[in-house]
Amino acid sequence: MIKLNIQMFAVPFHKVSKTRKRTRQAHKALDVPTMTKCPTCGAMIKPHRVCKKCGSYKKETIVNVEEA
Ligand SMILES: [Zn+2]
Repeated sequence: MIKLNIQMFAVPFHKVSKTRKRTRQAHKALDVPTMTKCPTCGAMIKPHRVCKKCGSYKKETIVNVEEA
């Protein structure tokens, strides 16, 4: 196997074209987390996780959440 000895240098910004820069930035977008409704209490929760409000998963109580 050929061992490449490539060093990464900072590139002056005017040497990077707008298209090249924008193409690189295209992967930077943040994505909105997927949320679903808890079937027991209706709160917005992340899928495949125990509900923080009522402590249930798939309509079964898993954790006892004490109300403050
Ligand atoms: Zn819930």
